[in-house]
Amino acid sequence: MRIACIHAHPDDAEILAGGTLALLAKFGHQITIVTMTAGDCGSGTLASDEISAIRKTEAASSAALVKAEYRCAEFRDLSIFENDESRRKVTGLLRELHPDIVLTASPSDYLCDHEATSRLVRDACFTASVRNYLTPAPQSALSAIPSLYFMDPIAQMTRNGEIVTPDFTIDISSTFDTKTAMLAKHESQRAWLKQQHGLDDYLKQMEEWTRACGSRAGVAFGEGLRHYKVHPYPDQPVLERILAQYVAAGIDK
Ligand SMILES: [Zn+2]
Repeated sequence: MRIACIHAHPDDAEILAGGTLALLAKFGHQITIVTMTAGDCGSGTLASDEISAIRKTEAASSAALVKAEYRCAEFRDLSIFENDESRRKVTGLLRELHPDIVLTASPSDYLCDHEATSRLVRDACFTASVRNYLTPAPQSALSAIPSLYFMDPIAQMTRNGEIVTPDFTIDISSTFDTKTAMLAKHESQRAWLKQQHGLDDYLKQMEEWTRACGSRAGVAFGEGLRHYKVHPYPDQPVLERILAQYVAAGIDK
């Protein structure tokens, strides 16, 4: 199957679904990791174009660890908005990738870019199959709406401080090392996250979040997902079936 994992910034997909992507890669699925921006604001010292170039290289190196393609949708940090132009752009991207399954950001999360990404991708999954909805470059409409899943918010916590209960948690204990190696490729974020987010060690913080998510589902390391199956989005549990042996049978089910 073709899987598109679309989140706002370089490192979000790794933090929230790196282990799941590694499992999907093991089964031979074709993965594209898309970041909406190149992380152009993610530096306290480098100019936008300098940090963007570094972060794209880091994101591509990370994606290569799970044999995924990396794409940047060329939005700008803190400037992802839900508007006509943006939705057509994301629609065009989906038509190009024609995914069977889309993973995207949580509708509620700590950062505006994450929430805007979630809404744009959700709606573009619908519009991508609408023939007369035009995109910047002419492209064929998708034959169907792809299956859509939301990753957890960062720290599994909404903007209002509530813990999200995923529909299911993937036990990523067997791929946690790959997830860590993927995130470690985002080396430029070590200094930035310390300065802006007060995180001493971003890998350690990711480990804590992944352990906490796992423990809520009774496994060592976990990543939560919610299946968006409101009419007319596909309600068949395709991802749950592919990863059936890794769906935690613990408390969040
Ligand atoms: Zn982000």
